[in-house]
Amino acid sequence: MSIFQQDLIVTIDGPAGVGKSTVSRFVAAELGYAVLDSGSLYRAITYAALQRSVDLSDETSLLDLIEGLDLQLDENGVSVGGQSVGREIRSREVTANVSQVSSHPCLRSALIALQRHVGKRKRLVAEGRDMGTVIFPEADYKFFLQASLEERARRRHGELAAHQATSTYDRILRDVRDRDQK
Ligand code: C5P
Repeated sequence: MSIFQQDLIVTIDGPAGVGKSTVSRFVAAELGYAVLDSGSLYRAITYAALQRSVDLSDETSLLDLIEGLDLQLDENGVSVGGQSVGREIRSREVTANVSQVSSHPCLRSALIALQRHVGKRKRLVAEGRDMGTVIFPEADYKFFLQASLEERARRRHGELAAHQATSTYDRILRDVRDRDQK
């Protein structure tokens, strides 16, 4: 049977700026699959926490926050309380703080079911660093992308420049290096 006729889960993992989103969208378009952007979930929680001045180092407070958030995740993206937050979650402030939020083990565990639920539809390209290991260990095809720090910073710089953002390459290089460390 050709790959186009099968119900598969494909996972694409790798570090920040390596091109996971670009590759996921491309593969999904080729196969006629949907994309699960797991990073958008962590970004939406970070955005909501910043808005409500929740202490990002306090896992219990973050768990309380997500209990009351009405987080919805599907192949069209993420919403909070019925509101799509697609644009807001890409801000520099969210990007600078999302690593801290995503570092809490209990918070990560609390998000497993939500992500696996999206996998029930199959025919899915799941993008994010723990997709092949934790969320969909039984995935049919698993990929891990790699690129140098400089290349990842160059890509991020290009993306931000396209959105008229003003960060310099050196600043982005520092940000990407910091996120790798975290
Ligand atoms: O891919 P994106 O840049 O949107 O991811 C934002 C952040 O969310 C990552 O830098 C990482 O801290 C966190 N993340 C994660 N696990 C995932 C996806 C994203 O911890 N599966």
